[in-house]
Amino acid sequence: MSDDDITERLAPGTAYLVGSGPGDRGLMTARSLELLATADVILYDKLIPDGALSDVREDAILVDVGKIGGGKQVPQETTTALVVEHALAGRSVVRLKGGDPFVFGRGGEEAQACAAAAVPFEVVPGVTAGIAASAYAGVPVTQRGVAAAVAFVTGHEDPAKPETQIDWPALAAFPGTLVFYMGVRQLPRIAEQLIAGGRSADEPVAIVQRGTYGDQRSIRGVLSTIAADAEAAQIKPPSITVIGPVAALHDELAWLDAARPLAGVTVAVTRARAQASALAARLRTLGATAIEAPAIRIEPLEAEVPDLTTYDLVAFTSPNAVDRFFALVRDARVLAGPTVAAIGPGTARALRAHGIAADVVPPRSIAESLVDALAEVPVTRALIPRAEEARDVLPDALAARGAEVTVLPLYRTVAEPLDDTARDAALGARYATFTSASSVRFFHAAAGTLEGPRIVSIGPATSAALRELGCEPDVEAEVHTPDGLVAALVADAAHHAQTSE
Ligand code: SAH
Repeated sequence: MSDDDITERLAPGTAYLVGSGPGDRGLMTARSLELLATADVILYDKLIPDGALSDVREDAILVDVGKIGGGKQVPQETTTALVVEHALAGRSVVRLKGGDPFVFGRGGEEAQACAAAAVPFEVVPGVTAGIAASAYAGVPVTQRGVAAAVAFVTGHEDPAKPETQIDWPALAAFPGTLVFYMGVRQLPRIAEQLIAGGRSADEPVAIVQRGTYGDQRSIRGVLSTIAADAEAAQIKPPSITVIGPVAALHDELAWLDAARPLAGVTVAVTRARAQASALAARLRTLGATAIEAPAIRIEPLEAEVPDLTTYDLVAFTSPNAVDRFFALVRDARVLAGPTVAAIGPGTARALRAHGIAADVVPPRSIAESLVDALAEVPVTRALIPRAEEARDVLPDALAARGAEVTVLPLYRTVAEPLDDTARDAALGARYATFTSASSVRFFHAAAGTLEGPRIVSIGPATSAALRELGCEPDVEAEVHTPDGLVAALVADAAHHAQTSE
């Protein structure tokens, strides 16, 4: 067996105590994603990033230990017991916890239980909320000349109770930044104790709610009045409270709004699951909450690619056609002779991944534009590998020029069932995005309506499919690529925010 044959397999019977980071999926570690993609069992918390579980194995056992039947939290002892039981049964277990597993995450107790049961375990640190939420609010928890130390403190306990584990006078005297977790409800008492212990009433404070999530909110104030400010702003858990002069840097360094034009905006992505994740990830980077509601799936068709030595043009009209084509041929040398055309940059990229640089890529990613781009290219025999249901604009135009055209259907687009949760989430989103006519038709068929979200179309063919169903798209991308669609959506969201609020 060579190295090539080694595929990632997790050690059976091992427990992985994994931090999911504070909420932004982009802050999950590479190791956490690797483990999630291969684990047999995943026991996850309530507070994990949206889409954290989107790449798990289809047959993985997923257990939500954040709640029982929509209600109460699963007791810690039950969760710990489950980790141990699944591991002892020989399964690889990922215990996915918000933030870092060892920072107020009870990961230490789970590790102890594993050790006691002789279950091998690994710990995968995550980005902890105290640091990440602060950073996303423009607050560095240490800063040269301002704060040389930082303390993470649980705000869970009532400081007035005699059994408090926290030495409040010592904490008040701590020479650095204080970051409170779980402290929203105790805020009045916390502020009181710290002032009583000698902290200035004017000490800067920042509170960050749902830090790094799309709907992050923060407030800034001073110690003596922060509890009232938080109450007025209806600050709710999960929030962290940062106390110290660094909190004032928020006023200067808050950067999130500029970087996240889609913060707080929900966007439904209806394209096939295989392609949805890249678009969803792009939207999330811009701050959106992306809802994956795939309406279509690619179904490969039986096909045989003819001998291409007698062809002078091969025109690809989708990345899927490229991938299917290369699944059927021996290697890229079959394309050594003919001119190779791609309908757009995505298709050209797919070709490049297989070692082919497209000779012709039209300026606009639509069949009409490809026809124009091919006007000067001599064509006698053309092969068009594509979807079964694609439009005939290109074959018809080439045939009209006297070329002999072979259309080679390589896949068909079929409906992906849409469950009620995905349907409701998609229809409740601010935007729904459509990147093909078939996703329009299948989504409409599955959802029964296109009403609710603002409708974003990637281009004219998709818009035509929308109009056939009586739906005028609210936004049509000028550049007919996923990036173009995202740009059009961002422009619309900016405009909308200005005009509606
Ligand atoms: N292990 C986690 C903390 C779990 S305790 C970590 O390392 O981050 C739960 C508390 O963490 C919440 O009450 C809140 O104070 C804080 N928290 C978790 N996620 C947060 C977020 N996205 N924004 C602000 N605070 C968060």
